[in-house]
This record gives sequence, structure tokens and C-alpha cells, in this order.
Amino acid sequence: KLILAIETSCDETSAAIIEEGKIILSNIVASQIKSHQRFGGVVPEVASRHHVEQITLIIEEALLEADVTYNELSAVAVTEGPGLVGALLVGVNAAKAIAFAHDLPLIAVNHIKGHIFANQLVKPLNFPIMSLVVSGGHTELIYMESEDSYEIIGETRDDAVGEAFDKIGRVLGVPYPGGRHIDQMAHEGKDTYDFPRAMIRDDNFDFSFSGLKSSFINTVHNAKQKNEKLDHNDLAASFQAAVIDVLVSKTIRAAKLKSVNQLVLSGGVAANKGLRTALKKAVAEELNDVELLIPPLELCGDNAAMIGAAAYINLKNKDYADYTLNGRPGLTV
Ligand code: ATP
Ligand code: MG
Ligand code: FE
Repeated sequence: KLILAIETSCDETSAAIIEEGKIILSNIVASQIKSHQRFGGVVPEVASRHHVEQITLIIEEALLEADVTYNELSAVAVTEGPGLVGALLVGVNAAKAIAFAHDLPLIAVNHIKGHIFANQLVKPLNFPIMSLVVSGGHTELIYMESEDSYEIIGETRDDAVGEAFDKIGRVLGVPYPGGRHIDQMAHEGKDTYDFPRAMIRDDNFDFSFSGLKSSFINTVHNAKQKNEKLDHNDLAASFQAAVIDVLVSKTIRAAKLKSVNQLVLSGGVAANKGLRTALKKAVAEELNDVELLIPPLELCGDNAAMIGAAAYINLKNKDYADYTLNGRPGLTV
């Protein structure tokens, strides 16, 4: 069974053809980063306009690359939320138009569930699983007992991890989004600045990154006032070490508590080299019989393939949306 999947929740216009929820026949991703970079963040109106311009071409390209025609499809799936409302609406309306024109079932997908199901494109998910979702807008530990059961057991109380990376990236003057650049710099530097690891020993699975961000900004600010020179690579390394310590420690604890079969990393920050390495090491040392899944880099950031993987559950259950489907910017799992 073939699904055409569409993702337009933020600043990537993407379409994919996915077979049986796990095989990628095509996954076209058009990033708008260059248009947003000069504003230092995603501008919603600019994002919507780009999606409108790109969506038809990207869908056609996905079909062409997969060598699939509309009448071979079993369903069309689209991200309904969370995300920017104007951006979501472009994908939702494109999906509705295709579903109507070709008489196909319409499937609404939660973007965060999509991030988790990116791992299904690597290896079959084997429930129960614990998923650490780390992205631009989310930092959550989600326990899944089965393929359609989601329990948030911990989340950030303030900034998302990706957001924190991007904010300190701005302080160090790297282009938006800063995460990837901070990651590179961190590998050139050493963990020499003593930044806080908030809530690391607290008896819960929540996170907080705003204190770390403030501490980072104060360090840079104070040095500037005293005309001291700071090593930017060491700053990046120290920030990243603090983030990773907290994420890994709480994730391992959560996986132990729920005795899961798999630990699954997902979201844009799953691309972080330091996090990938630290999590592999911790799982090998501390979790017996737990398999760690980490998506390849191209499936960490936003893409439609992951939406097609998640949509397969709906297709199996005939869980379809109707033409009243709308964008849901604040949707939770
Ligand atoms: P959400 O998925 O929460 O709705 P989003 O879709 O905007 O938000 P993603 O595309 O999943 O977020 O992830 C983008 C985030 O990932 C950005 O904050 C970016 O800086 C961060 N990121 C990407 N690569 C890396 C990396 N190597 N290290 C750290 N952060 C990274
Ligand atoms: Mg993006
Ligand atoms: Fe995302």
C-alpha cells in the first residue's frame, strides 16, 4: 500500500511516497532556511507564501521520483499540527484537494508522532518504547505501550532544546538555525565552563533549559564588559555538555522505570552528534536488552517520509479524516 504524505508545519515543504509505512520511495524536502535566515528566525507569512509556491511542484516531484501515479495510491496523509497555522493550512488544503480529486482517504497526522515514526523507516518499532523527542518546539519523554498509545511522562517547563541551541547560537553570531553550528563548534572545543544542569536529580522527568540559557548569556555578557576574550568553541562544548548530561540521564532513568524494548530518539536535535554518541554509550553501559534507535540525519529534521510512516497506523485502522480537517497549531500527542 502506498501513501502520499505531505508536511508543511514550519519551514520545510515536503512530500513523500511511503510503501507499507516503512519503505521510502521518495522524500522531497525543500528548505526555506535561506529566506528566513536574514530575520534570524522563521517568519510565518514568508513560510506560508513559500509553501504555496512550492507545494504543487514538490508533490509532483515526489510522485515522479517514486515512479507512482495518483491511481496507485491508497491514501493521502498530511500534518495537521502542531506548527504554524498558515503553513499547516497549505499542506492540509493540498491534501484535501488531492483526496477529493482522486477519491482517496485523507489521513491527519500529528507532527510529533511523525518525528517518532521516523524510526520506523529504520527498523520496526517494538513496543513498549520510550521516545525522547527533541526538536525546535518540543522536548518530551513519551512512553508508548503500543502503536497508538502516547503518554508524556516528562517535558520541558520552558525552552525546547532546539530553541535553546538556536538562542545561544544567536549570541555567538552563527546563522539561524544555530543547532548544527553549535554542534560543530562543540566538537572543536572542551567543556571548560561550568553551566548548570537543571533538574538533573529531581524526582521527575521534566526538563528546564532557560536557566542554562541565561547562565550562558551572562557569561558572554560579563566577559564582554571586562573585555575578556572567550573561547567560542569551549562555550559551545560546555553548553552542549550540559544539555546532553540532563537529556541522557533522565532518558535512561525513564527507560529503566518503564522497562521498554526500545529507546527511540527523534526530532531535529536528534541530529546532534554529541547527543547521538552520549546516548549510544549510556544505553550500552546502563540498559541491558534495550535497543536504541536513532534516525539517519536526513530523517531527523522535518520531512514528509516520517508523516507517511505514522499515517500507516491510521490506514490499517481505517482512521480517516474528513473534509472539515483544519490546521491545529497547538495539537499535542
Ligand atoms: P517541532 O518539531 O517541535 O514542531 P520544528 O519542526 O521546527 O519543531 P525540527 O525541524 O524537528 O523542529 O528541528 C529543528 C531544530 O533542530 C532547530 O532548533 C535546530 O537548531 C535543531 N538542530 C538541527 N540540527 C542540530 C544539531 N546537529 N544539534 C543541535 N540542534 C540541531
Ligand atoms: Mg525546520
Ligand atoms: Fe519538527
